[in-house]
Amino acid sequence: MNKIKNTGKVILAGAGPGDPDLITIKTVNYLQQADVVLTDRLVSEEILTRYVNKYAEIIRVGKQCRRGISTSQKTINELIVEHALQGKLVVRLKGGDVSIFSNILDELQTLQEHNISFEIIPGVTASLGAAAYAGIPLTAREYSTAVRLLTLYKSTVVSDEYWKELAKTDDTLVFYMSSETLDDVVEKLMQNNIPSDKLLAVVEQATTPFQQVYISDLCDYQNTLKGKIFLSPSLVIIGKVVSLHEKFTWFTSNKNHEHYFKPLTKSPLVDHEQKIVATVLS
Ligand code: SAH
Repeated sequence: MNKIKNTGKVILAGAGPGDPDLITIKTVNYLQQADVVLTDRLVSEEILTRYVNKYAEIIRVGKQCRRGISTSQKTINELIVEHALQGKLVVRLKGGDVSIFSNILDELQTLQEHNISFEIIPGVTASLGAAAYAGIPLTAREYSTAVRLLTLYKSTVVSDEYWKELAKTDDTLVFYMSSETLDDVVEKLMQNNIPSDKLLAVVEQATTPFQQVYISDLCDYQNTLKGKIFLSPSLVIIGKVVSLHEKFTWFTSNKNHEHYFKPLTKSPLVDHEQKIVATVLS
């Protein structure tokens, strides 16, 4: 006789970039029913306190490479499977959108290998949140006809040929995870003769009460933002559209320079892993 497995379900959902009101109603509905919520560092605490039902177990599986602290993808996959195979409704909540610069593929493959059913719910990705809250329409007519979502967390991600192309195009360029390598980004674009009418914006902690927007000419970058350390998370927008910020900025943030998302001070799963070890030893 075939044994019927009582598998649960996994909802892979985007929480939006920060402002808790930017989450979708569909994701909120699932958070209200969830048994377990596995959440990233870049998910607003307010979302967890406001929307997750009080019986759900919240597991923080944050990653913060700058601090060398992170929960391994293997552990995250194991936790998702472990809870789903117990028949639970698991919400895997990620900052922004689930599919943009995230490890969703690993998680999808793991779910498929274990025959666990799933749904994917989109979220407002950081580039759309930052553009909206900084008054920078990414494809404003007569300024740009396309947007590229890019990353330069290390120099090998973008080839020399591609730098040439990036310097030449009129597409708006948005760099994720690149505020620490911004000096390199600007240097490469300048070396490849990027036109001087393009501006650069760094949107720090977009859509949160601590959002800050820094604007610079690419030619003047040396004297304005070079070497600056931006608070995490920050996003870089480059293109003619950045000039629209001055005219259409609307969001007033708190001038305090505080962290909206808590920096990780230790591996978020230390307690969890210690609990597992303790159970095994007892
Ligand atoms: N899945 C996420 C991106 C994860 S990669 C999304 O769709 O938005 C993490 C990077 O996203 C950060 O290094 C930063 O570049 C960007 N980011 C995320 N939230 C942000 C925010 N509130 N403000 C500025 N940048 C943000």
